[in-house]
Amino acid sequence: MMKVLVINCGSSSLKYQLIDMETESVLAKGLCERIGIDGSRLKHTPAGKDTVVLEEVMPDHNKAVQMVLDALTDSEYGVISNMQEIGAVGHRVVHGGEAFSGSVLITDDVIKAMEECSELAPLHNPANLIGIRACQKLMPDTPMVGVFDTAFHQTMPEEAYLYGIPYEYYTKYKVRRYGFHGTSHRYVSQRVAAVLGKPIEDLKIIVCHLGNGASVCAVDGGKSVDTSMGLTPLEGLIMGTRSGDIDPAIMQYIMHKENLDIDQMMDVLNKKSGILGISGISSDFREVESGCEAGNPDAIRANNAFVYHVVKYIGSYAAAMNGLDAIAFTAGLGENNGKVRAQICSYFGFLGLTVDPERNAVRGVETIISTEDSKVKALLIPTDEELMIARDTVEICR
Ligand code: AMP
Repeated sequence: MMKVLVINCGSSSLKYQLIDMETESVLAKGLCERIGIDGSRLKHTPAGKDTVVLEEVMPDHNKAVQMVLDALTDSEYGVISNMQEIGAVGHRVVHGGEAFSGSVLITDDVIKAMEECSELAPLHNPANLIGIRACQKLMPDTPMVGVFDTAFHQTMPEEAYLYGIPYEYYTKYKVRRYGFHGTSHRYVSQRVAAVLGKPIEDLKIIVCHLGNGASVCAVDGGKSVDTSMGLTPLEGLIMGTRSGDIDPAIMQYIMHKENLDIDQMMDVLNKKSGILGISGISSDFREVESGCEAGNPDAIRANNAFVYHVVKYIGSYAAAMNGLDAIAFTAGLGENNGKVRAQICSYFGFLGLTVDPERNAVRGVETIISTEDSKVKALLIPTDEELMIARDTVEICR
């Protein structure tokens, strides 16, 4: 069994984990920040040891990958003796379009297909590709695997992925729902089946990935049948700074009133809306949570709107699947905010869901939070996208 390096590359950042797949344990993890910007640095954390911060100029991603490999093999804070110990690299790729319904070994043809998807995710895919190329340059003989955020959702039926717009926009431009957070939804739904001790084929699960970006996914028999994010990660739930669903005519109305162009309008919807926009307090739910505790009406308003939108999606997905066995909560907010979990679940008494307040008083631990006799189960499942990427990588490189 091998050691797998998992890479999640952004335009100015690079996150990594080195995972020993024999034990599925993380040997080291870290983050390169401000690549190509003044003040770049690498934060490297070997398992069970203190974080080392290395401040060095990183003009590009090649240098960042080089620093990661140096850190991993360093005599003092490294965790392997040489690069050859890395059996394969798994790369997170945001958009796989309709070309990828699963993870793949990266070849020249795959890179070409990824480039074609870049138009659909102009902020993310080019950065993912830069990371892949930088790794290929420094590790020319190491197999690389691409794991796509969209792939899990490729099982959605046509009625779920089509928008109510002229069909030719789908045939000509591939405008449709793709969905994101697929690696997380896949991991969490598999864990739900394991925790409940039932085959995933027999389960109807709704996964609520509630983080800064947030999405809900209906998983029927282990397959994604619908999800709240769409062509881009802007659709669906109210998020940290993203609006989620709105009446599209709002854009024209506000652009006219506020004298905005389309780029400024998109900026408002992506960066100034959501929890931040409604509350005016912060995009960080922790601040909204303490605002709610202090009785701040702006915080309460944002909290309740957020919860209500999650509830509406759960209700519609229970209908879409003609039943529901379990709701799972994951990501920063889903794993840490018991109040929001309980508030969401309180709407589903009519389905026979009851939360046990004691079981729900946990953070970040795999737990069934519903009562023993609850008909629909509720669970807290900490997500682990890196492990899922590493597992796919092993599977493909075997
Ligand atoms: P993520 O994007 O998964 O990192 O999640 C970010 C969101 O999770 C933010 O809204 C945070 O406020 C929330 N969050 C993260 N950690 C905690 C925590 N320890 N307690 C409460 N909320 C948290």
